Amino acid sequence: MTTRSAASPEYDAIIVGARCAGAATAMLLARRGVRVLAIDRGNYGSDTVSTHALMRAGVLQLSRWGVLDGIKAAGTPVVRSTSFHYADNVVTVPIKPQNGADGLYAPRRTVIDRLLVDAARRAGAEIEFGTQVVDLVRADNGRVSGVRLKDRHDRERQVSAELVIGADGVRSTVARLTGAECYRTGRHATGVVFSYWSDTGLDGYHWYYRPDVSAGSIQTNDGLACVFASVPQRRFHETMRQGTDAGYRQVLMECDSGLADVVERSKRVEKYRGFSGELGFFRQSFGPGWALVGDAGYFKDPLTAHGITDAFIDAELLAHAAGQGTEAAFADYQSARDKLALAHFEVTDEVASFDWDLPKVQQLHRALSEEMKKESLAVTNFEKTPGVFLPMT
Ligand SMILES: Cc1cc2nc3c(=O)[nH]c(=O)nc-3n(C[C@H](O)[C@H](O)[C@H](O)COP(=O)(O)OP(=O)(O)OC[C@H]3O[C@@H](n4cnc5c(N)ncnc54)[C@H](O)[C@@H]3O)c2cc1C
Repeated sequence: MTTRSAASPEYDAIIVGARCAGAATAMLLARRGVRVLAIDRGNYGSDTVSTHALMRAGVLQLSRWGVLDGIKAAGTPVVRSTSFHYADNVVTVPIKPQNGADGLYAPRRTVIDRLLVDAARRAGAEIEFGTQVVDLVRADNGRVSGVRLKDRHDRERQVSAELVIGADGVRSTVARLTGAECYRTGRHATGVVFSYWSDTGLDGYHWYYRPDVSAGSIQTNDGLACVFASVPQRRFHETMRQGTDAGYRQVLMECDSGLADVVERSKRVEKYRGFSGELGFFRQSFGPGWALVGDAGYFKDPLTAHGITDAFIDAELLAHAAGQGTEAAFADYQSARDKLALAHFEVTDEVASFDWDLPKVQQLHRALSEEMKKESLAVTNFEKTPGVFLPMT
């Protein structure tokens, strides 16, 4: 149930969720002088169920925000190549330095999410962990004017703000409480299991494809490789019924026996984490007194490893809209996001369908590559002309 507030706003913006979308938005808003409170029900620097390969546009933004140095200082290795393994045909793409980014990076979420929180705090944002949103507060005219929060001791309090931003992921509470509708959904989802392996000898990004299976290896912190095994959602539970370890190894063996051998010879240093799949969507992402950013507003299947990069782009677009504060600016936020994301969303959905043969998936990857070039250009364009963040064609 929604409660009412008569108090004047304590914050310009309250952000629900303080990971890659929420913490980045908090940082960007605080740098604009906005009074920000971000809250998260989780812990500072904790892990989450996500692999973490960043794409070019994400790295460019981290570089521009001054966060990339922290990622390097945390020992995150630079990724200088991406290899696509289409059965036995391997296509390796070198990653050239560009605009202050010497390559790609795949920092653990314990690294990147923490660094973004630190940067937001340095910019003046208040960030509180162990606190969840349980309700929205509305003014007499129905406009969202704050949140009801509950801490770990079940103590509740009400906090007011001009703008409440839901950066609270796929199952966003803010989206549910505002009634934000999905206006486009994907048709296909994949299930994935991943873990971390030492001494694999694998550098960079490796993506593997065969009919009905996919896998990948992502070079990350502490000399580890994050190796994932992915299948269409329809066969996820059946494949994993034999036990996660056996199901995971079976998928790797089906996909690429070389990768399966690497894992066989390596040491697993963490537990398996699994995700049984979720259809992608675009949600209405603004309304009176509220907005959504990151997965809360737009989600696509993780098989194309792009959600963190999306979250950064959305954060930048939303911070700009919030700086203007008009309804038109928020509408522009949503349409600019969709313009950048739509083709990527559709191609990802096709990849996630597993309804392809190897030449077809190769063609889909070329289409993704073109979209990522546009996206990088847009991110660079935004740096030169703040406020102009439309894909240049
Ligand atoms: C298996 C898997 C693999 C992936 N691999 C990649 C990859 O390689 N590369 C990539 O770029 N992307 C990847 N993604 C996508 C990426 O994880 C997401 O796009 C990204 O996490 C979105 O960030 P976010 O900040 O919007 O949401 P989240 O990371 O989901 O953060 C939401 C935060 O909100 C908090 N929260 C939720 N509800 C409340 C509440 N009521 N009150 C307070 N706090 C709340 C949560 O505690 C959480 O910390 C993957 C996703 C999955 C599932």
